[in-house]
Amino acid sequence: MALAMAATHDSPADEDTGSFVRSVVCQIDGKERGLAMSGPRSPLWDEDLRELDEFGDGAIVNGREPDYHVAFTFDDGPRYATTPKVLDALDRYDVPATFFVVGWRFAGVGRDTHKNAQVLLDTAGRGYTIGNHTFSHRKMAGAAPELIRREIDQTTRALRDLLGYTPHTFRPPYGAMGKRARAYLAGEGFTEVRWSIDSNDFRPGAAHALRARTVGQIIEQRGGVVLMHDTKHITADTIAAILDDLERENCRRLDRGEPIIAPVSLHYFMRNRDGTARAVPRRVRARSQRYRAQLPERCQKRRN
Ligand SMILES: [Zn+2]
Repeated sequence: MALAMAATHDSPADEDTGSFVRSVVCQIDGKERGLAMSGPRSPLWDEDLRELDEFGDGAIVNGREPDYHVAFTFDDGPRYATTPKVLDALDRYDVPATFFVVGWRFAGVGRDTHKNAQVLLDTAGRGYTIGNHTFSHRKMAGAAPELIRREIDQTTRALRDLLGYTPHTFRPPYGAMGKRARAYLAGEGFTEVRWSIDSNDFRPGAAHALRARTVGQIIEQRGGVVLMHDTKHITADTIAAILDDLERENCRRLDRGEPIIAPVSLHYFMRNRDGTARAVPRRVRARSQRYRAQLPERCQKRRN
């Protein structure tokens, strides 16, 4: 691995604004680089929440768990050329999301490594959830135990070095899993996260088709886990329109007194290994309640 952390320093959160600064000095390909993040205090940075991993040891998430909830997930980043645009759109529409990252992008050999690492810090600092998507995007189905271990552990270590905690959700590259990889994940306390709505943003096609296809499935299936890729220009360019369509649909539902399809954190899809429900953390529920409370006002603004 070409990235090595030399020093990490967190300034205490500002008492009035709650904002904080984390600075990281790292060696990338032998060169020292300084990275810094600042922003609103994120729960991710709360010491005891980092240790209390709410995503660990869960049943496989397949996106079919609760109706009328939608969780957005973005794979294969971080990529400095495209990911920030996705973050801006999510922020604008107040939509939570999980980013399943590949280690080589922010901790590998390459000239964009430090830029991608900075984007990953920003992603976590803005309160988005991070998950593991292997180090070099290798297929886990049929892989040798040594490869499985290396691909998962390298990314775990890189995330721990950069973010200060270990994310425990795993998205298999190509959705391909095998018995050995599942056993390894279980032993390490990971939760496998699959999807129920494939945006197919990897296939060549027009932006309007991607938009219609993705929103259409969300409405038709009354929510689910959406698979997208923040490394694709078409996704970065289209995600705001998709989120706008979802908001418009929810305003329509509000008018008719129908249940909205609430954009939520992946927490809402978590189950324990024995299939029992897992409580949604209080701060995560509070965010969803705030979204619902503010929706009428957002809908009013759309009309003006
Ligand atoms: Zn992938």
